[in-house]
Amino acid sequence: MNRHSLESSLKRSLAITVEDIHELVGNFHHDMKAGLGGKLSSLKMLPTFVDKPSGKEKGSFLALDFGGTNFRVLHVNLDGRGSARITHADKFVIPKAVMHGTGVQLFNFIAGSIRKFIEENLIGFEDKRKLGFTFSFPMKQTTVASGTLINWTKGFSATGVVGRDVVIRLKDSLKRCGLHHIDVAALANDTVGTMAAGSYKHPDCDVGIIFGTGTNACYREKRANITKLAKTMQRSGHMVINIEWGNFDKLPFTLYDERLDKSTNNPGRQRMEKMISGMYLGEVARLILSDLMRNKFIFAKSGGRFSKGDFKSRHMSMIEADRSRNLTKVKEYLEGVGILNTSLEERCLLKEICMMVSQRAARISAAAISAVISWMDPQLGSDHTIAIDGTLYEKYPDFRKTILATLKEIYGVKSKRLKLVIAKEGSGIGVAIVAAVAASQR
Ligand code: ADP
Ligand code: MG
Repeated sequence: MNRHSLESSLKRSLAITVEDIHELVGNFHHDMKAGLGGKLSSLKMLPTFVDKPSGKEKGSFLALDFGGTNFRVLHVNLDGRGSARITHADKFVIPKAVMHGTGVQLFNFIAGSIRKFIEENLIGFEDKRKLGFTFSFPMKQTTVASGTLINWTKGFSATGVVGRDVVIRLKDSLKRCGLHHIDVAALANDTVGTMAAGSYKHPDCDVGIIFGTGTNACYREKRANITKLAKTMQRSGHMVINIEWGNFDKLPFTLYDERLDKSTNNPGRQRMEKMISGMYLGEVARLILSDLMRNKFIFAKSGGRFSKGDFKSRHMSMIEADRSRNLTKVKEYLEGVGILNTSLEERCLLKEICMMVSQRAARISAAAISAVISWMDPQLGSDHTIAIDGTLYEKYPDFRKTILATLKEIYGVKSKRLKLVIAKEGSGIGVAIVAAVAASQR
């Protein structure tokens, strides 16, 4: 095979065609329905026991954002007139040992960080302080302030947490740290916080999405459609559903996707996440690249290699952002990792691989967005704002542009009805809002 036929065969296997999109949407609807009915489905469709906020929420809240690369503690003020403001925020790196240790260690780490945050920022506590807990993993909730972890994702594996109520765990650790005055008022997925934050500014916001370490989405569902809820709960009104879309598994996989999946600690799970999100994009590209290197199609004269985990989505970002004629940034990067004497043609091929992988991610994302929208609004008769949070979406060149272009392919001019907005700090501010909504429901 020569380079040209190789490139076109790669392109073919990574392409997401219009037919693929139609098939994906149909399968997505099938799994949404099954999930809402409590049947076996790749989409868990988790009830959150909260609806969107009114904007009248008021007060000061602590917010935890836990579920990915960093762990954050925030203090948020809601003014009761639709405005939310972060007064203090600290970031803590989660040590690997804590990610993979025991549940008690994990929650003690969280509680200890909150204690530090309170002391360092001199946050006084005259009264009980309400806390919103963003926990970005699949959990089964029966109220807005409780939930059991269904399974870990994104590489986490702390023992003794799956199947347990994470709020009880957090409360125990808070007590151990002497933080008796903190009341855990709400537990929410980061998508739910993102949608809440988006709703504050955009009343027609009814979808929240994360494109970060992982990917997931939530949307506003009629309670009557959530047939797995108790009959009394189904009567009227709406509830936000956490789709857990990262686990969707009816997709055109390539052999690289299969290889990647097998190398993770959760094989067979989070298959869509593994094609889209920041934790995995680099690895998909690396597997393709390694194949080409082994066959001497690229960097044959250069030496060096990429081992598992060496090539990250931020490297892809940097490569795609290099618009120089000689791809000088790419050259410098390659030299930095010991791949020397590359030709421009090789660097172009590397960039091309990154583009194929990231465009596939963005097109699958757009297909999933259109599946959620067409589930809620089959004729696209109303405007919808989609609130998005996550570094991948914010920083990856053209990720947003490709999603918008694909939505236009799907909907034509009607795609103007869909607004994609960044809900920066969605998972931080948002969960404070959810805590306020929960407090007002009580
Ligand atoms: P989280 O999802 O963990 O809450 P973020 O939304 O900040 O946090 O996403 C972090 C992820 O974004 C990282 O794991 C990494 O995969 C990805 N990432 C970081 N920087 C970049 C970048 N410049 N371009 C693309 N992806 C990035
Ligand atoms: Mg986040």
